[in-house]
Amino acid sequence: MQEQLIRHITVGNIATNCWIYGIEGPAGANACAVIDPGAEADRIIESLKRLNMHPLYILLTHGHFDHIAALPALAAAYTPRPLIAVHRLDAEYFGPASLEVHRRSFAAAAGNSSYVDALWEDMPSPDRLLEEGDKIGPFTVLHLPGHTRGSAAFYDKAEGVLFSGDTLFRGDYGRTDLPGGNDGQIRESLKRLLAMESAVKVYPGHGPVTAIGEETGLLEAL
Ligand SMILES: [Zn+2]
Repeated sequence: MQEQLIRHITVGNIATNCWIYGIEGPAGANACAVIDPGAEADRIIESLKRLNMHPLYILLTHGHFDHIAALPALAAAYTPRPLIAVHRLDAEYFGPASLEVHRRSFAAAAGNSSYVDALWEDMPSPDRLLEEGDKIGPFTVLHLPGHTRGSAAFYDKAEGVLFSGDTLFRGDYGRTDLPGGNDGQIRESLKRLLAMESAVKVYPGHGPVTAIGEETGLLEAL
């Protein structure tokens, strides 16, 4: 078996992890999924070029602007356009009416929306709205509400790899004080994740990689 390709680029002012994940594609193509293109589309595209990778999917763990600001330019850079997918309950962060949603959300986080206004480009609508248990590429979708209503993780069971977005970080978990956040829900979502096999490697939306087995101490705080 070929070694699984996982690369990461830290993008934007909020140091978001954008992940490039090799997947099976059409014969002869080096296919990948890009997870959370948070900013700096040029750098993401440059990395993909260097890796000789073509994105089949752009997967969003949730709709926060620091995870999707590079989505318009990244999606537009490829023909055919990669399939854009996000959980149904975060659909409001996408499409033509989403600018106000991002302004409100960002103002709640940072006191103003200047970061959104500086980087804003017309946000495409998702091609596919995901539900709990859906399969997309090599992943199963885990719906993990709490950080946002539609927060999700992408779990490649065969590889033991989980992209956890802003739900689970190394030694910490996502904030719940922004619009759509819910503390009770994120606790339940975390309990669910921390009940997974301890060897599952966790690739979060910010900060270093971890594993389920290294985070079970969080359970005491839940
Ligand atoms: Zn977030």
